[in-house]
Amino acid sequence: MSEIQATNYYIAQASKIIDLGPHVEQLLLTPEAEHIVSVPIERDNGELAVFSGYRVQHNSARGPMKGGLRFHPTVEIDEVRALASLMTWKTALVGIPYGGAKGGIAVDPKTLSKGELERLTRKFVQRIGSVIGPQRDIPAPDMGSDAQVMAWIMDEYSRLHGFAPAVVTGKPLEVFGSAGREAATGRGVIFVMLDTLHDLKIPVKGARVAVQGFGNVGSWAAHFAHSEGAKVVAVSDVSGAVFRADGLDIPTLMERAKQRLPLADYRAEGVDHRASDDVLWADVDVLIPAALGGIFDAANATRVRAKVIIEAANAPTSPEADEIFARRGITVIPDILANAGGVTVSYFEWVQNIQSFRWTEAEIDGRLRETLSGGYRTVAQMAKQKDLTWRTAAFVVALGRVARATLLRGL
Ligand code: NAD
Repeated sequence: MSEIQATNYYIAQASKIIDLGPHVEQLLLTPEAEHIVSVPIERDNGELAVFSGYRVQHNSARGPMKGGLRFHPTVEIDEVRALASLMTWKTALVGIPYGGAKGGIAVDPKTLSKGELERLTRKFVQRIGSVIGPQRDIPAPDMGSDAQVMAWIMDEYSRLHGFAPAVVTGKPLEVFGSAGREAATGRGVIFVMLDTLHDLKIPVKGARVAVQGFGNVGSWAAHFAHSEGAKVVAVSDVSGAVFRADGLDIPTLMERAKQRLPLADYRAEGVDHRASDDVLWADVDVLIPAALGGIFDAANATRVRAKVIIEAANAPTSPEADEIFARRGITVIPDILANAGGVTVSYFEWVQNIQSFRWTEAEIDGRLRETLSGGYRTVAQMAKQKDLTWRTAAFVVALGRVARATLLRGL
């Protein structure tokens, strides 16, 4: 099942539970707009290269649309549709005044020079500049894009439309970024993990944690898990996985991640090297997928040994795998709750840009904790009240909010 099929399955399931009816369900399944553009650039060697760019705007009933930009070779329209839809439910679930969108370019940024990446980003903004904007659709980083890319987006959009720092979030601190944004998704993942472990009565100190993906989200999640006293025993990136039963040296691995050094080249006492996917089957309390979507399916869900899965990545679990996890008593905290920390601090960045005002990192962290704990408690209550899994409960809450906003505003 593809990511869009899986996402639509979860929407349809929640829609039945709250009895939305086929017409409203259809409305909420259908994106408001889809933009596919060519993105031509001149390579450093003078040759022309053409890439495909996407922006899907799923729903704006609750506010301007918001969602990341993924730079990855596998980006295609169905994946972007699924991710845009998830943004609608995520923003509704944690109660921030946005709708959902997502975009990307089918490119491997590692194969581009810095100059080529800048030209690609600016050309993409020229192509989609008329459909994004601070009150319309606000991009942010996702896999393969970072704060530098966001700075170029702000600059190019401002060149075309006048000064507008709030057109994009995840910018560097020096150019209208927010304290705490870079670490926000990983920090949020661990806030949600702390609430979950507390409810399950699993002590955080010494809890064994495995993380798939050691980029922005995975490395910060590992960092905060480690600083809360958990034992991070396995992490992976695209190059491979490293295991250490007594816990990995996360500060050193963070330093290496900043320098973009592959895990496969890391050597230290007691560290075992394994295939990348082995982290998924590690004997741990908590498994945090923080790389690509489409990781767990019917064929491999029985191999997972974790007690809890916190979905830092978007759309890692197929509905079949979800059912298997539920049957096996594995608690799955769904992406639309677990990784909502990124969009929450993006919202704080947008608010600061609009007010031309700066909040401290302590203020940001406090508000983030409050927002995510609010989302967590609402989902916990719904799951208990209607005897649902965490994912179904999260979709029921989010769908109800978006449906009410849509119907109150009228077509
Ligand atoms: P990133 O590009 O910074 O890092 C991705 C990491 O995954 C890298 O370490 C890469 O080596 C690794 N990876 C790729 N394929 C892998 C594989 N097959 N096995 C193991 N590792 C693999 O991306 P990111 O921003 O950290 O995003 C990761 C996930 O989190 C994505 O699903 C993204 O949609 C989601 N997410 C990101 C944010 C954000 O703020 N960046 C917010 C919400 C959700």
